[in-house]
Amino acid sequence: MARYKDSVCCLCRREGLKLFLKGDRCYTDKCAIERREYAPGQHGQERRSKLSEYGLQLREKQKVRRIYGLLERSFQRFFDKADRMKGETGKNLIQLLESRLDNTIYRMGFANSRNEARMLITQSHFLVNNKKITIPSARIKGGDLVSVKERSRKMARIVAALEASQRRGLPEWLEVDREKMIGTVKTLPQRDAVTMPITEQLIVEYYSK
Ligand code: SF4
Repeated sequence: MARYKDSVCCLCRREGLKLFLKGDRCYTDKCAIERREYAPGQHGQERRSKLSEYGLQLREKQKVRRIYGLLERSFQRFFDKADRMKGETGKNLIQLLESRLDNTIYRMGFANSRNEARMLITQSHFLVNNKKITIPSARIKGGDLVSVKERSRKMARIVAALEASQRRGLPEWLEVDREKMIGTVKTLPQRDAVTMPITEQLIVEYYSK
């Protein structure tokens, strides 16, 4: 899978807000946004000009795409799927993104970021309903059990992530037994349970042009 290879902190600086892409570092004063709250590049320190309607829609789409670490084509596929589902497209989109396995592993605290979750999943450190799974984009559903494989429970990276995740808190749609390293998906994530500052309607307008 193609990946974004530059510093992810530049993405936060470009969007002008914390996207929390680097795990624990994002909560410290080492965060690049805390140190340099202006866009990267030669003209980054110039005043940001007022965005057009299209500009606002584009920026919102880019912001959400970057939060979930998706490339343009995959993000568009998610949008198309959300559009075909019953209900409000914007809410469907957020639910689809939240119910990816990599996001779920991150939210449960078994990884420091969605990027790290993707890497750990492909290295086969997790089970879903006691079955091996190595596909980061796999969709979870209500009632699913996500666990760290026994052989991986002492892995320093996972132990450190669980420890650090306590400051993030756990969304209400998940339950985690930290000692046993098992998480339960109580229900599919609803839009209201996602507290990030996202205006999904702008993304719907962007793709409806
Ligand atoms: Fe963004 Fe985290 Fe980097 Fe801060 S440390 S700029 S929140 S990725």
